[in-house]
Amino acid sequence: MNGKDYTKMWEGLGLNIENHAGLLGVLTNAYKDIYLSQNNRPAAMEYFDFVISEVHGLRIEEIIAAKEAGRKVVGTFCVYVPEEIVLAADGLCIGLCAGAEVGSEEAEKFIPRNTCALIKAFMGFKLSGLCPYVETTDLIVGETTCDGKKKAYESFNEITKKVYVMEIPHMKTDEDKKLWLSEVKRFKDRIEGLSGKKLTVDALKKGASVANEKRKALQRLSRLRAADPAPISGLDALLVNQVSFYDDPLRFTSMTHKLCDELSDRASKGTGVADKGAPRILISGSPMAIPNWKLHAIIEGSGAVVVGEESCIGERNHRDLVDESFSSVDDAMEKISSRYLGIDCACFTPNTERLDNIKALVERLGADGVIHYSLQFCTPYMMESYKVEKAVTEVPFMRIETDYSMEDFGQLKTRVEAFIEMIQ
Ligand code: SF4
Ligand code: SF4
Repeated sequence: MNGKDYTKMWEGLGLNIENHAGLLGVLTNAYKDIYLSQNNRPAAMEYFDFVISEVHGLRIEEIIAAKEAGRKVVGTFCVYVPEEIVLAADGLCIGLCAGAEVGSEEAEKFIPRNTCALIKAFMGFKLSGLCPYVETTDLIVGETTCDGKKKAYESFNEITKKVYVMEIPHMKTDEDKKLWLSEVKRFKDRIEGLSGKKLTVDALKKGASVANEKRKALQRLSRLRAADPAPISGLDALLVNQVSFYDDPLRFTSMTHKLCDELSDRASKGTGVADKGAPRILISGSPMAIPNWKLHAIIEGSGAVVVGEESCIGERNHRDLVDESFSSVDDAMEKISSRYLGIDCACFTPNTERLDNIKALVERLGADGVIHYSLQFCTPYMMESYKVEKAVTEVPFMRIETDYSMEDFGQLKTRVEAFIEMIQ
C-alpha cells in the first residue's frame, strides 16, 4: 500500500474494519510468499504489484470519485456480460468473483455446504463485510450459467437488492441466438436506464474499441508465453489476467503492452523465468479468481512453468474480439451478441469447440502436459473434463478437483510432482 489510511473510506462503505484488516494482512503475506519470492521477474510487473497492494485502497478511491462524477459501476461474475455496453454508457465494469475461502459459515446460511468455492466466496465476502467492490456497485449482473450461480443470485439479490440477471441459453441453435440477442438488447436498455444515457453508434464503437484493445493486449501476452524459455511465469501472467477485471481498461492496456514489450525483448534474447526445456503446462477449466494462486504456485514450485490458462480468467475472456464494423445500434447488438455466444463455457451443450480450442492451445503454446482444474462441486467443468481427457491425445493429461482451502496442498503437490516427473 502507499501508506495512506483508508479506514474512513472502508467505514463509509460499511466494511467490517477488524475482519478486513485481518484479510489484508493474510493477503499481503501470501503475496510476498508466492509472488515477491519469484526469481527473475519482468521489471514491468512492478505496476501489477502496485495494483494488488492498492486493490482495496487507491482503486476503490478512484471508483468512488468516478461515482461522484456521475458514472455508474456495474459488477459482474461472468465473461458473458457485455462489457462494451457498460463502457459505452461511460460506466465502470468490475469483476466480483472471489478466490479466497472467506465467510463460508455465513454463506452456508443461504446456500448448501456443497456449493463451489467461487459462489461461496462471493457470498462470504459480502456477508462478512469484506468486499469494497460489491459495496460500490450500482448494479450487479448475474447470469443463468450454472445452476449454483443461478440460484445463489436469488439470495444475493435478497442481501444486496441490486442484482439483475441475464438469461444465457445453454445451446447455440438459431432459436438460442435469438434469445441471446434479445437478452443483450434488454441489458442495453437496463444500462441506458441506469446511466440515463441513450447509447449511440459512436458510444458503442468507443466501448467496443476499449474492450477490444484490452483483449488485444492480453492476446499479445498469451502469444509471448509460447517462447521457450518462458519469458514470464504462469503466476505473473495469471495475475495480469486477474487484474484485467478490476483496473481502468485504458491504463491496464497500456501497462500490459509495456510488460509485453519487455517480454518480447526477453524472448528475442532467450531470457526466461525457467530453464529452456523446462516442462510446460497448460491449465484448463474453472476460472481462478483473485487471490486463487494455489495450483500455479504448486506447479511452478515443482520446477515446471504454466504457459497458458484455458479459462475465463485467461483465454476464454480475450480470445475473440467484437466486430467493430457496425453501422447502427441494432447492428452493434447483433455483432456484440454474436461475439459472446462464441464463448465456450462448459455450461453449453454440446461444447465441442472448447475441445478444439484446447488442442490448438496445446500446439500454439508448446505445452508438454494439460492439467484440468475444476473447483469441487463445479459439475459443468468436472463433467467436461472427461471429454477433454479423450481429446488431448498428444500430451499427458491430469485431472484435479480442489477448492480454495490449503488442506489438500501437500497431496496436490505430490500428484503434480509425479505428473511433471513423468513428462520430463
Ligand atoms: S466458466 Fe462459464 S459461468 Fe464461469 S465465468 Fe466463465 S462463462 Fe461465465
Ligand atoms: S466454477 Fe463452476 S460451479 Fe462455480 S460458478 Fe463457475 S461454473 Fe458454476
